[in-house]
Amino acid sequence: MHPKQSGKPAAPLLFLVCAVIIGLWAALPAAAVENAGASPPVLVVDPGHGGLDGGATAADGSLESAINLAIALRVRALARLFGVQVRLTRDGEELDYPPEAETVHAKKVWDQKRRVALIRQTEGAMLLSIHQNKYPDARPRGSQVLYARTPDSAAWAELTHANLIAALCKDNRRVAAPISEDIYLMREIDCPGILVECGFLSNPQEAQKLKSPGYQLELALVLTASYLQFLSTQFQGDTG
Ligand SMILES: [Zn+2]
Repeated sequence: MHPKQSGKPAAPLLFLVCAVIIGLWAALPAAAVENAGASPPVLVVDPGHGGLDGGATAADGSLESAINLAIALRVRALARLFGVQVRLTRDGEELDYPPEAETVHAKKVWDQKRRVALIRQTEGAMLLSIHQNKYPDARPRGSQVLYARTPDSAAWAELTHANLIAALCKDNRRVAAPISEDIYLMREIDCPGILVECGFLSNPQEAQKLKSPGYQLELALVLTASYLQFLSTQFQGDTG
């Protein structure tokens, strides 16, 4: 439980994170952005699952795919406000499967390969994959950030995980960790990539929060601020 936050949105948090975002973005020197390399960074936001694959299901039937998309759309809106280039791997719940993908398995494989191709074709891509967790026990809650085995992924994940804990769940004892090699999307990318498990749909209280537009906005603010903060550290490194 979060006694200090129970029952109402953490409005001061929103102001604080907005201030951090604005401060970080203002601190990014334009010259550093231009000199950062041939390809400016592009935030590729991946709302996990979608189409035939709803992902995890909450006790009330809410689908992970819809919550992932709601948070991803908020990240895109916020990031664009600050001039960040953003691509989504999907922007709706429906996916336009090709006729040759006839089985559910073939459709899922096609979708995963499509996402990997989109990410690999995006010069300067930085992948932010958004998911929700589920566990047989209803008690676990809180977020966790997992990272690909590509350069810069661990540092971005640790920063994002620390910010999520500080802003939204101070008693979270998890740590950022490398993701399993079994996760095709994260294994096949060649750019920095993190996968954020925003919370547990198996925890009824947390599932209600994850479905609420206010909490989705708070998560999106922290994820966007963390991305900008990470970019600012990268550019300081390049120009220092
Ligand atoms: Zn998922």
